[in-house]
Amino acid sequence: MDHFEYRDGVLHAEDIPLPRIAAEIGTPVYVYSRATLERHAQVFADALKDIPRKHIAFAIKCNPNLGVLRVLARQGYGADVVSGGELERALASGMAPQDIVFSGVGKTRAELAQGLDRGIGQFNIEHEPEGVALAEIALAKDMTAPAVLRVNPDVDAGTHAKISTGKAENKFGVGIDAAPEIFGRLAALPGLQMRGVALHIGSQLTSLAPLEAAFERVGRLVADLRAAGHSITHVDLGGGLGVPYKPDDNPPSPAEYGAMVARVTKDWDVTLMFEPGRVIAGNTGVLLTEVLWVKPGATNPFVIVDAAMNDLARPALYDAYHDFVAVRPTGETMTASIVGPVCETGDTFARDRVIDKVGSGDLAAFRTAGAYGATMASTYNSRSLVPEVLVDGDRYIVVADRIAAGTIMAAERVPDWID
Ligand SMILES: *Cc1c(COP(=O)(O)O)cnc(C)c1O
Repeated sequence: MDHFEYRDGVLHAEDIPLPRIAAEIGTPVYVYSRATLERHAQVFADALKDIPRKHIAFAIKCNPNLGVLRVLARQGYGADVVSGGELERALASGMAPQDIVFSGVGKTRAELAQGLDRGIGQFNIEHEPEGVALAEIALAKDMTAPAVLRVNPDVDAGTHAKISTGKAENKFGVGIDAAPEIFGRLAALPGLQMRGVALHIGSQLTSLAPLEAAFERVGRLVADLRAAGHSITHVDLGGGLGVPYKPDDNPPSPAEYGAMVARVTKDWDVTLMFEPGRVIAGNTGVLLTEVLWVKPGATNPFVIVDAAMNDLARPALYDAYHDFVAVRPTGETMTASIVGPVCETGDTFARDRVIDKVGSGDLAAFRTAGAYGATMASTYNSRSLVPEVLVDGDRYIVVADRIAAGTIMAAERVPDWID
């Protein structure tokens, strides 16, 4: 459920008609709904009500906007971060250092030191040398780093290849069979407090079966580690729950996920950590755009919008589907391809799709753009960096400015030795 609804034939974000944002801020622009964000955060937390000890860390890579993070911080969410930059964002949003988990396959020594200096709650170690480095850095600072070992359970998440992370051939974690020995060596290092294991098998999962298979493997690993004398107090189950992008998509609900987790982990006696991203933020945002032109094509017309692949990369990157709706639908439809202005054929949002009939100057919205949207934006083709707006009832605020192409250009220089 979300708070983007038609009132008197006009698409609104909560109580704000989207044409007002288009007129005042311009397009393209991301529009987020605070009520939707809070609702999703609450629904996910409620789904875990049967888990006695838990910590929820929003995977901020999917939407690191400070305004968005602030809303989630107030909901009691921590953050899963994958870079020093994300770590600073989580702190700047008001999240407590203790509530921050540091994931990521290529943390630098500087980032490990930054995490220690900031006093974060947990490091998710991706492989043995990283753990050794973290132990050395912590020891030099006279500190002990709370850490878990990320394991790769070798299951097929059944999602797009570019966002699968839990197959043996993927770059993430250590093989689950090698995990006990590696864990044992890391646990012996002063400077590390090895307290558990982590996994994350992929994103946009539309079935619980691969998650359940992975959790069962991790459950057996926990038992093996305890049998070897280790104290296991934390297991990080990652994120990955999918969201509906198409009207007839039917991914598992947070409640179904929570029930499965409660059942599989009931005897684990650990604090469970969760790293949801998309399921919290996906449906909380739309990308508002204006139709520039409708141009005849060989089969169907091209609807050329002012948003492009640099603003919303998912269709170009993963062939992802985003619903496209007119802000003032007439009830008529057309079959068209939706494209942006960037000079690549990859800048295509939809091919030969039946959509609301739109014409030059009309406003439209790409739905479910709150996760992996603005955060992936670039200035390719010297376009401006897309702005973001947060709506709260009948008020809204620009939570990220449009950064003009000229501002980007001002950070460049022509060498004076080229004459
Ligand atoms: C990306 C990521 C997540 C979040 O994934 P979603 O599919 O958005 O829930 C969680 N944990 C880790 C380690 C990640 O890399």
